[in-house]
Amino acid sequence: THQEEQHQFSAEVERLMDLVVHALYSEREIFLRELIANSADATDRRRFEALTNEACALPATPQIRLTIDKEARLLTISDDGLGMTKDEMIQNLGTIARSGTRAFEKQLKDTKPEDRPNLIGQFGVGFYSAFMVSDKVEVISRRAGTDEAWIWTSEGKGQYSMIQTTRDTAGTDIILHIKSDADEYLESMRLENIIRKWADHIAWPIVIKQDDKETNANTGTAIWRKPRSEITDEQMEEFYRHVTHLFDKPLATLLWHAEGVIEFTALLFLPGMISPFEPVDQERKSKVRLHVRRMFITDEAEMLPAWLRFIQGIVDTEDLPLNVSREMLQNTPVLARIRKALTNRVISELQKLSEDKETYEKFWNLFGAIFKEGLWENGEHTETIAKLSRFYSSTQEGFTTLSDYVSRMKEDQKAIYYLAGDSKEILTSSPQLEGFKAQGIEVLLFTDAVDAFWPDRVGKFNDKPLRSITRAKEDLEKLMGETQHTNSEEEENLLKSLQEILKDKIVEARTTQRLVDSPVILAASENGPDLQMQRLMRRNDK
Ligand code: ADP
Ligand code: MG
Repeated sequence: THQEEQHQFSAEVERLMDLVVHALYSEREIFLRELIANSADATDRRRFEALTNEACALPATPQIRLTIDKEARLLTISDDGLGMTKDEMIQNLGTIARSGTRAFEKQLKDTKPEDRPNLIGQFGVGFYSAFMVSDKVEVISRRAGTDEAWIWTSEGKGQYSMIQTTRDTAGTDIILHIKSDADEYLESMRLENIIRKWADHIAWPIVIKQDDKETNANTGTAIWRKPRSEITDEQMEEFYRHVTHLFDKPLATLLWHAEGVIEFTALLFLPGMISPFEPVDQERKSKVRLHVRRMFITDEAEMLPAWLRFIQGIVDTEDLPLNVSREMLQNTPVLARIRKALTNRVISELQKLSEDKETYEKFWNLFGAIFKEGLWENGEHTETIAKLSRFYSSTQEGFTTLSDYVSRMKEDQKAIYYLAGDSKEILTSSPQLEGFKAQGIEVLLFTDAVDAFWPDRVGKFNDKPLRSITRAKEDLEKLMGETQHTNSEEEENLLKSLQEILKDKIVEARTTQRLVDSPVILAASENGPDLQMQRLMRRNDK
């Protein structure tokens, strides 16, 4: 029989455990993410070590196994990873490897409660999160390439014990004695859900065992890590459905293994439909998922700008530590570079796609309105977005581009004219168009809400000013080569009465020669907001 040894945690570890257990209480489920991440790390490390040391070779089908024993209230997480020697257990589980309690405590204080779970990974204290749900934790481990195994046992209060044992194969078991208020973690369904949320794409199979039943809890293979040629169309579509919760086929798929200063893999989809459940308009943020070494980190890292939020998928990088904090997500230059590269790449993919008219117009009908928000943002991509935008026109069938419009402009035409409104039908029959029609001048018909706003921001395309025809009286008069019109006495009287009756509603009443069929038209004042914008502003006031 073996002799049990008693060890003291350092005061620092004790304090730290206390912090982890209490500060993160509301997010207890992440203990599973941390323990599974450790198991996956250990399995990765064993695979790596086996490259140079045959004695460490992995079993044929390495797994991460979760075993539930409801009666004994035990949840065991087992892996075929590298394992730990006795000394390594003392070192890794009994001291703080990376940073002190004080730094952790300070960070904890400075971090919003909802962001705190990310801290524990960052500080290398993930293991202690086991004590959030456990009265007692046992760790049985056997280092690959050795025969000895040890049990490390602790109730998380001041001390732990170590005793030698045996284990058939190399690897580690983390045995959790589940607390009386944590029954949920003895439910296989609950564990499955947590895994799906946090660890679905761990490359190693995660299996849940309860009684005689075995469930595969993760879909497992990170298909984005494979070369495109090794992914079947079927697998790709299934993955698309998995990340988007949509049930059609994507209009376009991008698998990109970016190499260079920073390395990452992106698997992005341009959906073929708008989700009936989670419309992209609901939250104006990109939901592209960020993974670090296959491990899901967050879908709130805004990997793409809001105006590309219709793109869905994942980004996976090796260049960040597992479990980056939210703060870090905002500040790290690594992510800034990935975002930039990603944005550029998506834009160039859309450029490519635009050569396929049919597909591109499908895309445009679905997401054009969102894409044009990028014009309103008026950043570095404005010109490209403008070129990629499609519009209805008063003289063309179907969609046209700004460039095509410019190429059709009349010789003496100085501006790009548009009319914004609610639908193509309404606009086509608008009296505003009459004068322009009569002069054979093409007018773009803007039908999305955002169209009332971006032209003023952007100002010009190809050096041609963008001008709403509701504000273009003088332009039209010039184009018409209008002769000076002197109002008759009758006309003057009519204007006077109109002015009196409508005095609070209009700036002035005047005669015009731009109308052909309609007797009267509402025009915007030359310097005021465009009419559609006024309408939208009124709508928002309500
Ligand atoms: P981190 O994983 O960030 O290093 P943790 O507190 O999660 O911090 O784990 C501490 C250390 O314990 C790990 O770095 C690893 O060396 C060791 N460890 C934890 N779990 C396992 C495991 N399942 N197999 C092998 N080693 C482990
Ligand atoms: Mg860890």
